[in-house]
Amino acid sequence: MKNTKPKAVIIGAGVGGLSLGPMLSKNGFDVHIYESNKTIGGRANILKKKGFTFDTGPSLLNYPWVYEDYFNSLGKNFYDYVELISVDPAVNFMWRDHSNFQLSSDMTTLSEEVAKFNSEDRYGLVDFFKNSNKKYDLAFEKLVTRNSSNIFSWLKNTGMNNLFKLGLLNNMYDEIGKYFNEKKIIEAFSSYSMYLGDSPYKLPGFFSILPFGELQYGLWMPKGGMYGLIMGLKKLNEDFNVTIHTEKRVEEIKIENDQVKGVTLSDQTHIKSDIVVSNVDSSTTFQSLINDDKKFKKYKMTPSVYTFYWGVNKKIDSMTHHTIFLPNNFKKTFNELFINKEIPEDLPFYISIPSKTDNTLAPKNNSSVFALVPCPVISTKKPGYDKEDFSQIKSRIFERLNHQKINLSENDIIFEEVWDPNKWESEFGLFDGSAFGPSHNFFQIGPFRNQNMSKKYKNLYFVGASTTPGTGVPMCVLSSKMTTEKILTHYSND
Ligand SMILES: Cc1cc2nc3c(=O)[nH]c(=O)nc-3n(C[C@H](O)[C@H](O)[C@H](O)COP(=O)(O)OP(=O)(O)OC[C@H]3O[C@@H](n4cnc5c(N)ncnc54)[C@H](O)[C@@H]3O)c2cc1C
Repeated sequence: MKNTKPKAVIIGAGVGGLSLGPMLSKNGFDVHIYESNKTIGGRANILKKKGFTFDTGPSLLNYPWVYEDYFNSLGKNFYDYVELISVDPAVNFMWRDHSNFQLSSDMTTLSEEVAKFNSEDRYGLVDFFKNSNKKYDLAFEKLVTRNSSNIFSWLKNTGMNNLFKLGLLNNMYDEIGKYFNEKKIIEAFSSYSMYLGDSPYKLPGFFSILPFGELQYGLWMPKGGMYGLIMGLKKLNEDFNVTIHTEKRVEEIKIENDQVKGVTLSDQTHIKSDIVVSNVDSSTTFQSLINDDKKFKKYKMTPSVYTFYWGVNKKIDSMTHHTIFLPNNFKKTFNELFINKEIPEDLPFYISIPSKTDNTLAPKNNSSVFALVPCPVISTKKPGYDKEDFSQIKSRIFERLNHQKINLSENDIIFEEVWDPNKWESEFGLFDGSAFGPSHNFFQIGPFRNQNMSKKYKNLYFVGASTTPGTGVPMCVLSSKMTTEKILTHYSND
């Protein structure tokens, strides 16, 4: 019998593509996801080596309500698919002078932690929570989850007075600085800007809701690591009869008379389709899959990363699950990375030890350790990344760990894998090796960001970190809802 359902091809099984599959299937499409790699998940991938399990990219799960709502919207219960483990104490920030700031979702604990720097800041913390709560609700209601095709409808939806309330016209550092006297607290909360692709002195103040959201809704890790979430999404796709084709690279999106007709795979198979949704970074999509790069090269991108996956032959008591090592001169470091486009001298970096929360991720009495170092995107690094960068970065990490009296040295490593910016680019099609996609300055969010529906090519859509609302695993899930809304409103097969 002929399949009368309209056919949807999704290019890429990243979080966005995997979230979109079930939504389109529920709405009557015959859905096929084509993924170039052997394993699904995109940046949220998995490495299993010598008894150690590593998440390749995301390591922090926040905003669990996003996943609960998403699964509910499909008539499913998130917790039937994914088991979450609370990570509290959450992130620990460390400075060279041996001071530290440990986050917790427990308000009494957090308040004591803030007061250890400055007792007045306890009151600031209460105000920060009150104000951020309002901003957070307003942002998700008016800004983050709404499709708006142009600046005028966006401004109308958001409301001019809300631009001030949301702190969109302020910068993130100043917005957080309104509540705290202690520079280190401001720096710790502002450091989230690293992943949004600009300095906190430039990003809109609205992003002060990021640390708040993490504290309010807690920090989590799925059982089995972040890949537990990908396994949950895989099962959901199976339950909705979505077909995932792995090791199938899409070479071209077929377009005739500005209308999408399907895709061609690298083995030259032609797949006809009524709609095509690209989960591949939008700049890469336009440059490599459509050969139309006029508009998309202009985006300012988030930094790239060096990531280290270390199997370590012992337990590490001197660090918690998540630790961020901040530099002495915060502003100088951000200027080096975002303005001078160089690897900062006093390297900031992040270390995660997921086996502390789930001991199945490493052999007994061993630890799986992940280190992430932000660095400039490929095109700005002259003459390019090489082995020397790798060994310098690695030795600077261990110099710092030694300085902080952390019981982890290079000699403890029994397994090592390193991904540099070139690997991130080639493995997942990340434009210029940018780890998190286009950055989130004012002119690259909302209606200014690459939209989830092509204005030029009929029945071509986008989902994932490079489109709206932006980067991060929960945002990619929200993105799938927004793309579905656009498809259901605009799709026609005439
Ligand atoms: C190192 C790192 C750490 C991070 N940490 C966090 C974190 O702690 N918390 C958080 O929320 N977020 C984090 N992020 C961000 C988060 O990982 C991303 O925002 C999110 O995973 C992006 O998903 P996506 O839907 O855009 O798809 P992507 O992950 O970009 O996947 C796209 C998929 O398309 C496939 N593909 C590419 N080209 C083709 C082609 N031609 N044909 C077929 N398939 C193709 C790729 O192989 C890939 O599987 C991190 C990212 C990185 C890199």
